[in-house]
Amino acid sequence: MPIDPERQRQAKEYARIHHRLWALDLVLSALALVTVLALGLNVWLKQIVLALAPNVWLSTFLYFVVALVAYGALFFPLSYYSGYVLSHRYGLSTQTLRAWLVDVAKGGALGIILGGVVIEVIYALLRAAPAGWWLWASAFMVLLNVVLANLAPVLIFPIFFKFKPLEDAELVARLTALAARAHTRVRGVYTMMLSEKTTAANAALMGLGNTRRIVLGDTLYNQYTPDEIETIIAHELGHHVHHDIGWSLAAGTLSTLLGFWIANVFLQWSVAQLHYAGIADLAAFPLLGLALGAFGLIASPLSNAFSRWRESLADAYALQSTRNAPAFIGAMEKLANQNLAELEPEPWVEFLLYDHPPIGKRLKCGEAFATARR
Ligand SMILES: [Zn+2]
Repeated sequence: MPIDPERQRQAKEYARIHHRLWALDLVLSALALVTVLALGLNVWLKQIVLALAPNVWLSTFLYFVVALVAYGALFFPLSYYSGYVLSHRYGLSTQTLRAWLVDVAKGGALGIILGGVVIEVIYALLRAAPAGWWLWASAFMVLLNVVLANLAPVLIFPIFFKFKPLEDAELVARLTALAARAHTRVRGVYTMMLSEKTTAANAALMGLGNTRRIVLGDTLYNQYTPDEIETIIAHELGHHVHHDIGWSLAAGTLSTLLGFWIANVFLQWSVAQLHYAGIADLAAFPLLGLALGAFGLIASPLSNAFSRWRESLADAYALQSTRNAPAFIGAMEKLANQNLAELEPEPWVEFLLYDHPPIGKRLKCGEAFATARR
């Protein structure tokens, strides 16, 4: 199925709206933070929370929950528009409003639980080690990410998606053999019921260690040929062959260390300027958020560039290991049509937002491989 020009026109339109919403979200978030600090809402909230809960762990948790819920409520119209209205208008979502709201509630609850744990640990470190907290906090975050990567397929993804073992014995055998050739131990091949939520296709190698598995969206399994599915999974296995988990762990550790170190410098400075009680002062929580958010924003083009490089290597592996450029090209064309992916985004969009090479570049890579083999 070649690239559909009408779908490309829609993809461009959809992308343009999304980029504007991204910028709007950024500006409004910054404005909200500045307003909170200017009006002293952060100090006011701290006083209320301390009056309600004299226990330091409880008051920290309360402060975080109120801040998170307030942010979520304030930005709800924006997430409703981009997550529900737009994706329906462009035919990407298959969810009812009720199902979408349930997912939002689940995501919120997960955010409170996981975020709550992170905040409690960070504030305990801020209180106990005001000078070296950032080092310990980085170590904790890296460890947490490894644990979550391992637990996600069994604990987190099932909260949102239904999984079942793939029943297609022939395809399972083919994909398992492909994994064996890549010296990757996988514990099973699963389908994920993506069609309950979206029309878009996806596949992944999920989990870490004993939870590592091949996962195909049913939206992919139902519409792609076995050859096309094989090339997509070969790409995923390419990540394993190239030790991308180790690479991303190393890069993640470096950027976490840098981010927390910068947050520390900013927090020490701003807390002194604004005469807060110390860096563990709950009133300074928005400043910690500001520092980490700003760092994340500046660091993301860098981490995206790194990711695009690793992704292009995984594409090369997919082509070399399957030696089937037409299947690779076919899969990419289908993905572009089905997922409303822009073939050639503007360079600044790619630079800021793309963690995979745009499909136009991936197609060229496939075509170059086909030409070289001819
Ligand atoms: Zn990839």
